[in-house]
Amino acid sequence: MARRQTLSTALLIALFLVPLTQLSHPSLAQAPTTPTPSPAAPDFSTVEIKTEKVADGIYMLTGRGGNIGVSVGEDGVLLIDDQFGPLSDKIKAAVKALSDKPIRFVFNTHWHGDHVGGNENFGKDGVVIVAQDNVRRRLSVDQVNKFSGNITPALAHVALPVLTFPDTATFHMNGDSIVAVHVPPAHTDGDCIVRFTKANVVHMGDCLFNGRYPVIDYSAGGSIDGMIRAADIVLPTLGPDTKLIPGHGPLGDRAALERFRDMLKTVRGKVQPMVKSGKSLEQIVAARPTAALDSLWNADTTAANRFVRVLVSGMRKK
Ligand SMILES: [Zn+2]
Repeated sequence: MARRQTLSTALLIALFLVPLTQLSHPSLAQAPTTPTPSPAAPDFSTVEIKTEKVADGIYMLTGRGGNIGVSVGEDGVLLIDDQFGPLSDKIKAAVKALSDKPIRFVFNTHWHGDHVGGNENFGKDGVVIVAQDNVRRRLSVDQVNKFSGNITPALAHVALPVLTFPDTATFHMNGDSIVAVHVPPAHTDGDCIVRFTKANVVHMGDCLFNGRYPVIDYSAGGSIDGMIRAADIVLPTLGPDTKLIPGHGPLGDRAALERFRDMLKTVRGKVQPMVKSGKSLEQIVAARPTAALDSLWNADTTAANRFVRVLVSGMRKK
């Protein structure tokens, strides 16, 4: 029987409890390494869901995992992403404090567990889950990471998006047109950004890590080129006052996305020539190509090295 390493739910969750600067991600493009002991199961009882107002009727919820966007109003509640399953009750309580209307839709910006972990609970409540086609495709079957061999198990049927689309979808609710736009593969191959047209707010999903080095899921079609391209697609559509809800990190704006894009370009400019010249992974990591940027991006050496390893492994795949 073929041996395969199953990433337990506890481990998967625990990985997301590591500060993002030290994030070990189930979908990281990493060469197989010596197995390390599983971290202890996380204690979600200590997690507090915090609510920050972004605009009238629009809020950002933070707890553990990806930032949640909330639209409340006369037509009900739309959630953009839903963090981890054990947090669903706390998320519902935070929403209840904003609106007594029902949660009608959950939109998944992409397939990662720290953004879709509540799907099963919300799906059981009858909430309609919506996502780009590739998100459902990946969530429907076990995902094997091409680099690590780790397996992310398929979600239960009730947790899967019931409404999917290839390119764009618009929610006409709460007095706004809330437009989800699929960008070409960036962080994954199913990324969407979600624009509140009237309110001038955009949820960037994991196409923006504000002030942090990103996770890039090369195994699921992501790449640093795609991350840069996504920023280049979105930036001309933003005004100086547009508010950005990032996948991770604090609320941002156009300048934050520009800084992120420029950082990615700088790092690519340093790492890519080394890969092309045939340097080994260890030689490139030892050269510390991100050293001048690490303090600006809140990264210690371990986190920076992890980011470089992902890039090198991913670039080599091509
Ligand atoms: Zn992600």
